[in-house]
Amino acid sequence: QKEANALRKSYKGNVTGEDVPLPIGSFEDLITRFSFDKRLLNNLIENHFTEPTPIQCESIPMALKGRDTLACAPTGSGKTLAFLIPLLQQAIDDKETQGLKGLIISPTKELANQIFIECIKLSQRIFLDKKRPLQVALLSKSLSMKLKNKVISDKKYDIIISTPLRLIDVMKSEALDLSSLKNIIFDEADKLFDKTFVEQSDAILDLCSTKNLRKSMFSATIPSSVEDIANSIMLDPIRIIIGHKEA
Ligand code: ADP
Ligand code: MG
Repeated sequence: QKEANALRKSYKGNVTGEDVPLPIGSFEDLITRFSFDKRLLNNLIENHFTEPTPIQCESIPMALKGRDTLACAPTGSGKTLAFLIPLLQQAIDDKETQGLKGLIISPTKELANQIFIECIKLSQRIFLDKKRPLQVALLSKSLSMKLKNKVISDKKYDIIISTPLRLIDVMKSEALDLSSLKNIIFDEADKLFDKTFVEQSDAILDLCSTKNLRKSMFSATIPSSVEDIANSIMLDPIRIIIGHKEA
C-alpha cells in the first residue's frame, strides 16, 4: 500500500472508489498478481511496450478484478492499451465460450481503426481452445453486411470494435449474438456521452442485456454530466484521474 501511494503520487494519480485494487509497477507484476498470459506479455515486449504508463498501471488491475471504471488521462498517455490489455486477457481466460466477449465503441472510424491496429499487434499468435486464433474485428460496412446476411458467423469474433451507428444497426438486425458479452468499453467517453452521441450510446447499452456486463469509459476529459452518467450505469465504479481533470 505504501509503494502504491508513492507510485500514485509520482504520476499525480487520483483513484477513488470502494476496495480499490493496487496499481501495477511493471507488466511483469501481471504475471505474479494475475495469471497473465505469457504470449500477451511477449507481444507487449515485441512491440516495445516495456513499461506501463500511469493510466495502464491503474486501470489494468481494476479491469482484471472485474471492476467498472471511469478513467481520465491526457491524450497520448496510452489509454488504448490500458483497456486492450485486460480485455485480451479476459478473452483468453474465457476460452470455453465461443462468441463475442468484448465490445469497444469509438466515436470515429479513424479512432476505431487505430484501436484495431493496436489490438491486432497484441493478439498475434494467441490461440484459444482447439487452435482457434483469438479473433478481433473492426465492424466495417462490409463486415456488417456479411453478418446481416449470415455469410459470416457472429460466433467467429471474440472482440469487435465499432462506431455507434453501425453497431446499433447490426444489433437491431439481430445479426450479433450478445449472450456471451462480458465487457463494453467506451473510448473518448466525453464525446460518446455528449449531446450528439448520448442517445446512441444509451441505445447500445439498452441492447446489451447480459447480466454482470463490465462497463468502462476512457477519456481525456470528464465533464460532470459524463460522471453522472457513469455513476448511474456502473456498479461500484472506480474513478481514475491521472494529472488534472480538465473539463
Ligand atoms: P491516448 O488514447 O491516451 O491518447 P494512445 O493509446 O493512442 O493514447 O497512445 C499513445 C501512444 O503511446 C501510442 O503510439 C502507443 O503505441 C504508445 N504507448 C502506449 N502505451 C505504451 C507503453 N506502455 N510504452 C510505450 N509506448 C506506449
Ligand atoms: Mg485514445
